[in-house]
Amino acid sequence: MRLNGKSAIVTGAASGIGRATAQLFAQEGARVLAVDLPGKALAEAHRDHNTISVLEISVADDGAPEAIIGTAIKGHSRLDILMNNAGVASNALAEQMSRADWDRSLAVNLTAPFLICQQAIPHLRESGAGRIINVASVMAEGTGFGLAAYCASKAGVAGLTRTLALELGKFNITANYLLPGAIKTGMTTPLWNARPDVADIWAKKSALRRLGEPTDLAKAALFLASDDGAFVTGHGLTVDGGLMLRV
Ligand code: NAD
Repeated sequence: MRLNGKSAIVTGAASGIGRATAQLFAQEGARVLAVDLPGKALAEAHRDHNTISVLEISVADDGAPEAIIGTAIKGHSRLDILMNNAGVASNALAEQMSRADWDRSLAVNLTAPFLICQQAIPHLRESGAGRIINVASVMAEGTGFGLAAYCASKAGVAGLTRTLALELGKFNITANYLLPGAIKTGMTTPLWNARPDVADIWAKKSALRRLGEPTDLAKAALFLASDDGAFVTGHGLTVDGGLMLRV
């Protein structure tokens, strides 16, 4: 058990990477607060895990950061690990993107993680070995048609996280970010089911010749959350099967 006695928060935990990570953290001994939007069957997703509690809220709502951290502290009396994973992808060429689409991507993908980190920091300081894991994307360093807001928000997550690492190191808090490649989740599966040829192209582009599974990311998050990752901070860990070696 690599997270025995730890208290963790995972956002975007009803599906995909967040769901797999919340459950792996729980299997490793952590008490986990799983956060996702109302109506996403969050409780159902974690029904078989009695050390996972749930909070249905949008991370981008006013007051959500306070509610999320407050719920974790009320339930667990401490906070050791924060994983900001909730994310949305916009799809509009920059010239045509509405201000509302831009604002929504930035609010969910970048501003919410920042505000949740802010609320978490005092408790992570008290932990004595706090961990921040923010989920960016290979698109933090890459580009994609229609992905201006997504790429900008994820590049922002990288910059935010590196700066947090610098500022919080003296409290023995590490801050790292994950850069997933093409992973089979709720964000991608509907498209790939409709266009198997597109899924095939992504799989073939990667050096390991396959799409990623949510558990591939969960295992990387566990490394960063556990004592094994104690001396890793300010790092962007690419988990893409070698996708970016080619593009
Ligand atoms: P997913 O759609 O399966 O999971 C994302 C979860 O975030 C969903 O359950 C969704 O309801 C939740 N969410 C969205 N907006 C929210 C909000 N405002 N408040 C609370 N929860 C919200 O997709 P995923 O691929 O597991 O996404 C997890 C993270 O991984 C995201 O940040 C995404 O950008 C990133 N990512 C995914 C891929 C990929 O190929 N799947 C690649 C790179 C990065």
